[in-house]
Amino acid sequence: METTSGKETITVLRRLIAYAEKIFQLSKDIVTQVSDRREKPRISTAAVVKSSLVLFWARLGSINAWEQVGRAHFWKRWLEEPTFSADTLGRVHAVLDAHGLRQGIHDVYERLKRNKALPDIYGLGVVVLDGHESHASYLRHCSGCLQRTIHTAGGDRIQFYHRQVTLMLLTAALSGRAAVRLLLDHEPQRPGEEEVETALRLLARVIPAYPRAFDLVLADALYAEAPFFNFLLAHGKTRSGGAQG
Ligand SMILES: [Zn+2]
Repeated sequence: METTSGKETITVLRRLIAYAEKIFQLSKDIVTQVSDRREKPRISTAAVVKSSLVLFWARLGSINAWEQVGRAHFWKRWLEEPTFSADTLGRVHAVLDAHGLRQGIHDVYERLKRNKALPDIYGLGVVVLDGHESHASYLRHCSGCLQRTIHTAGGDRIQFYHRQVTLMLLTAALSGRAAVRLLLDHEPQRPGEEEVETALRLLARVIPAYPRAFDLVLADALYAEAPFFNFLLAHGKTRSGGAQG
């Protein structure tokens, strides 16, 4: 991160943080719901979650960039805790409680809904269900990894990777603003499992949590099978194919 772009990043971050605190009471109401499995934490879970939010908001491509932001005064004031290493950031995420994170997203959704920031699309609440792959590696793996054999010039190699199914809420745009895309939840695909099974587990959790958030589920042709249709029909939802490439 160069000095000029670093300054711009910090200006944008200050605005985003001010907005998130004003609209969502981010520090007081949202991040305080998230906990982790450490026994005597020196750094709070809230500070770690706030740090990773900033990583995403500023699209910081490297830990070096994150550590530069970490030196800014406003940032230390906002965290209300000593700065910590990238190692801590990674380690705490591995033991984070997903339920508290989901509850935080739910609260953000409710506040946006109350503020009329999530208008329907022609009278319908619309979500997109989609599978995504992340962090493939030949070297590092964990208990949640999927694996596959890659045929290379040097012979076959086992590659480890993660896949998850995400559910994204699509809304109409308010005049003069970009439409909101809100990630409601996601579910990791387990070893030996088909993507549709993962998606059904995701929907079984999301539909009771968001009973009125959507009427229509968009998904690609992969989902054109009976158990998927039947599940949605039983829950009063419609499904539409071919919307995602
Ligand atoms: Zn893994």
